[in-house]
Amino acid sequence: MGGHSDIVLIDKNGIRLDGRKADELRPIKIEAGVLKRADGSAYVVWGNNMVLAAVYGPREAHPRHVQNSNRAIVQAKYNMAAFSVGDRKRPGPDRRSVEISKIISEALEAVTMTELFPRATIDVYMEVLQANAGTRCAAITAASVAMADAGIPMRGLVTGCAAGKAGDKVILDLGQEEDNFGQADVPLAIVPRTGEVVLLQMDGHLTQEEFDEAFRLATEAAVNVVYPLQVEALKRKYAGSTEDIEEGITNGGLANSVINETPSEVNADEIVEELASREEKVALEDMDDGKQGGEQ
Ligand code: UDP
Repeated sequence: MGGHSDIVLIDKNGIRLDGRKADELRPIKIEAGVLKRADGSAYVVWGNNMVLAAVYGPREAHPRHVQNSNRAIVQAKYNMAAFSVGDRKRPGPDRRSVEISKIISEALEAVTMTELFPRATIDVYMEVLQANAGTRCAAITAASVAMADAGIPMRGLVTGCAAGKAGDKVILDLGQEEDNFGQADVPLAIVPRTGEVVLLQMDGHLTQEEFDEAFRLATEAAVNVVYPLQVEALKRKYAGSTEDIEEGITNGGLANSVINETPSEVNADEIVEELASREEKVALEDMDDGKQGGEQ
């Protein structure tokens, strides 16, 4: 969050740099089962973000000391390709990608029926091929489709979306300039089936009212727009032929149960209220500000 720039992020008609209105998402495309070698995979194009997710497992966790004798662990790895950003990104893990991997692992683990697979690991790889702000939301959205594609039993899909503040306005789904020169970014991930929030961060500053508005914009877009695209992507893959459906069932049955997953009536206002009344459950982790510190 830079905040100190003369760049006009929103014009006098309320239109953003890329032509969007305050509450408009970038165009999103989701495809399931794009990789042959992985147990499950998905590809998400979200505006100018491109993210590929691949899932392996459940399989025995190695080394053995990472095993949990009662349940599976979910090990998610977020990585940005060297060519994903304007300036070549130095390859390998940095503070930011370690942080994102950790919070996405925890978010995915929260919906996975890990108790069914003691000592196992479910490995989730997210490769950001092109980045334009909002990659962690695109990545977790891809990851949960890839897990469903792998037939991993989950309590529901996880859907990511961000909102924030730029040009003094609360806006949905920040683009690169809005992220760089804006005032706040609130990425979150929700389980539309249950209304559970499994990831919530805030970078920058918002008043309580602005936060509530950002939270409402992001949850509504996640539930009403992004989530149906995830379900559609799985339907397209598994409803293609009977053979595919059978494969989906023998593969654990989840992809099939997801097909029957109807977007539940989630009321974002209710979720905001619910969270306000259980404040201790909201872990507002301040995002790593490393990228402003020249740690690119
Ligand atoms: N970014 C970059 N180099 C980095 C990290 C981030 O150019 O090392 C860009 C990238 O386009 C990313 C954006 O900054 O999407 C916003 O990064 P942030 O940390 O807010 O995460 P994101 O919004 O992608 O989840």
